[in-house]
Amino acid sequence: MSKVRIPFGKQIQKWLVKYPDLVFDGTVIKCLPCETHLPMWSVIQCRNHVNSKRHIQSQERQWPYMKFLSDLMFMLSVCDLPFVMPIEESFRVFWNKYVPMWKLPPRKTMYRKLQLIRQMVENHIRSKVANRKIWITIDKTTDIYNRKVINVLIRPMRSNQSSVPYLIASKKLKNVTAESITGVVQNAIARFGIHKNNVLMLVTDITECMLEAGKSLKDFYPKLLHVTCMLQTLHLVEVQIRDGYSDIDKLISSTKTVFESSTKRTNTFRKRCPGIPQPPDLIGTRWKPWLEAVFYYHTYFDQVKSFVLEMDPNDAQSIETSKQLFEDPQVRNNLHTLYNNYTPLSNAIKQLQDSTSSLSASLSAISNVICSLQLQTVMDITGMLARETLHDNLDKSPDYSKLCAIDQSSLYGNSSVDDKYFRYANMTCINMEHPFLTHISTFSPRHKALTETTIEALLMFEMFSRSHPALCQQ
Ligand SMILES: [Zn+2]
Repeated sequence: MSKVRIPFGKQIQKWLVKYPDLVFDGTVIKCLPCETHLPMWSVIQCRNHVNSKRHIQSQERQWPYMKFLSDLMFMLSVCDLPFVMPIEESFRVFWNKYVPMWKLPPRKTMYRKLQLIRQMVENHIRSKVANRKIWITIDKTTDIYNRKVINVLIRPMRSNQSSVPYLIASKKLKNVTAESITGVVQNAIARFGIHKNNVLMLVTDITECMLEAGKSLKDFYPKLLHVTCMLQTLHLVEVQIRDGYSDIDKLISSTKTVFESSTKRTNTFRKRCPGIPQPPDLIGTRWKPWLEAVFYYHTYFDQVKSFVLEMDPNDAQSIETSKQLFEDPQVRNNLHTLYNNYTPLSNAIKQLQDSTSSLSASLSAISNVICSLQLQTVMDITGMLARETLHDNLDKSPDYSKLCAIDQSSLYGNSSVDDKYFRYANMTCINMEHPFLTHISTFSPRHKALTETTIEALLMFEMFSRSHPALCQQ
């Protein structure tokens, strides 16, 4: 039997995991403490280098300050503080007065060191994904200049628990096509030395180019299953329902404006209705939980109504609109109908937002939505359109039925070798824990001068540090 030959770069990455000071950047091996390229390629040579006097001296000289820098950057990132903070004058004055033994670096140095810290982060990720089955998602977003950015996130797939995602690439693309997306994913996967047979699952949004990209990636990764984001699918169903209940949508937006436009009203509401949350704010969220807002009004209808009715409609147009809607008996009926018909949908959205959910729990939540939309009570036009939207979108998801079959076979004990890795497979591409990927500060004008590589390192580092806040305490 002929031996399978592993490409050179992958071979290096495989054994380099043992030496956290050394990193392979695709062309050469670098030593982080020595800040130099190593003219060597074998395990023995690398082992000799890390045991050499020169290396140990570099480590002793550099590491305390590097450790301080990486801890400082970790702390800033975990606390959601920008890296520019240490150059603020008042911060420097405070720092130099109380912590004079640790010199604060200029911002430029921090960005320069960021590349070294990125290598450490990448090494950590490599050690976590080495020889593991991998889940991928591709997140498409735009920066403030409307440039398209593709983020690639991976999770090691475990049979006994969910795992945290790692951002492994963030690339600006001039043209977002299936081909360009495929290229970004393949390069990122190769950089982390992941074997093609270990890439098991891909989640993307439902756009044509993502479906096309999924097809080409499946040619390259033979075991890959591609599903579309179930949270997006359920959101599209929710939008369909919202369109059928414009009065409720108006009630939510006008009442929100009543409170938003006056702090005095908000404070009075808090005093008058203790224990009742403020009317929900749907602005600023990537996926607006519309049904959750509907259920808020279903639960607190009388309390919010009596508060709004006492206000002077001449004060604001929003008060007038909100008042009329609260007094319309059809509005109350519609709130009841929405609550009775679409609670399983709202529950499924909540379930899928929890990234620690098991595959069985996610699929059973979706199955509850499918069943609830078959009921007689949901047979009005809105209900039928919602059902159609759900089925159309599930049909477009290339391997949704295969995933259901894997879940079923695991229940009956006849699963294949890789099936167990799908037990905690996440079915969404929306990263609820890391909304900073679309956070405006990440791509603020302040960052305009930064190179794409620095921004990518910054994002990788931010995501990593927030998933591993304890690392800076070690
Ligand atoms: Zn060295």
